[in-house]
Amino acid sequence: MPRSVWSAVVYPALIFTVALLAMRNGINSSLASIIDRYRPDLTSYEKFYRNTHQDPELSGVEANTAAVVASHLEGLGLVVHSNIGGHGVVGLLENGLGRTVLIRAELDALPRHEQTNLSYASTKIMTDRYGNERPVMHACGHDMNMAALLGATALLHGAREHWIGTLVVVFQPDEEEKGGAEAMVEDGLYSMIPVPNIMLAQHVTPLNSGSVAIASGPVLMAADAVDVRVFGEPCPGINPQLCQDPIAIAMRIVQSIQDLVKKEFGEEEATVACWGFHAGIPGADFVFYADFLLDIKTVKPKVRDEVLVFVKKSIEAQCKEMDCPKDPLFTSKVRAPLTTNAESAVKPIREAFSSYFASNLLPMELQRVTEDFSALQGSFKIPYAYWNFGGTSSDEDIAYNHSPFYAPALDPTLKSGIDAMALATLASFGSEGHAP
Ligand SMILES: [Zn+2]
Repeated sequence: MPRSVWSAVVYPALIFTVALLAMRNGINSSLASIIDRYRPDLTSYEKFYRNTHQDPELSGVEANTAAVVASHLEGLGLVVHSNIGGHGVVGLLENGLGRTVLIRAELDALPRHEQTNLSYASTKIMTDRYGNERPVMHACGHDMNMAALLGATALLHGAREHWIGTLVVVFQPDEEEKGGAEAMVEDGLYSMIPVPNIMLAQHVTPLNSGSVAIASGPVLMAADAVDVRVFGEPCPGINPQLCQDPIAIAMRIVQSIQDLVKKEFGEEEATVACWGFHAGIPGADFVFYADFLLDIKTVKPKVRDEVLVFVKKSIEAQCKEMDCPKDPLFTSKVRAPLTTNAESAVKPIREAFSSYFASNLLPMELQRVTEDFSALQGSFKIPYAYWNFGGTSSDEDIAYNHSPFYAPALDPTLKSGIDAMALATLASFGSEGHAP
């Protein structure tokens, strides 16, 4: 290669690349120094975590938890709106003209009888929104997600001379059951806050405490709830079991539908489970219909559409074959949309995580669980990133989210959750670690 080519093309390109890498490292190391400098004293967030763990609230009735987080946000000087889509809370921190970044955690706990033996374990029984007395426990770790979000908000508030834009902090109700994200949007969330440029959420999981995992593309499955009513035929004077008994028909359908879907699509693509079954009225001597609820999980939008059609057609065909007097009825509801991280949202976060967490940054596998976080975008196409942070301190007896034994280790889970959310937010604002 002639010398002139080296001096005209190769050297400048090399110098540019080296300068770019140095700048990137500079940006990420200054992000790390912001995190270290402005991380709040963890004591009060540990206390919030223990108190919330001991005093959990079920989906749709999270009034006390919402009041506690609202008062914490007000204490930090954020403008707070409450009771959005139920007990939803939003805090707004305007900090100059720039991007709007929404960060979110969930308020609700689960109907579980806690068996962790922690000194701050929940022994609480509360009335759910249907009037039933239920045990209640933060078995999914939403208490840890909330503590990390509050701590990250305090960090970002303290570090506000290092970023420009609007921070929107969302505490969402009713994630576990009915879709509080959609309820918040329908209740006018975006008449109270600007439409974000990006949305961020994280969840504590049984990864090693201190680690984080992120990826672009699909990270959580979609879930549809399909209520099915199968009709039988009353035949007075004869044993109803000798007629078209809807209980027997529905049972045959429930038993076969999982295998039929598995055979047609493969269990990697779609799963079907029966989450409820009800038929008959006490005292009645024959049964008109049987109801069952199917939970259908899928990964690809096209496959989801095909599976929903397949399930409906298959149930209709079985009813015909078994001489049902009427066609079955279907009521479908999207329980959780697919969670698909945008590469544009993930890229700056992955770079910041890679530099800060080093070997504790892991690739995120597609998980066969669901979330309604992406429904917070409503009809807007808002790029988002959702990642996991680890909460398990040993390899033995790992309990998974939703188990009555699930309890993340407080240290260093809380610190890494605060750091991850604050880092991701700074990276999403485009902060270069310098005062504007
Ligand atoms: Zn959860």
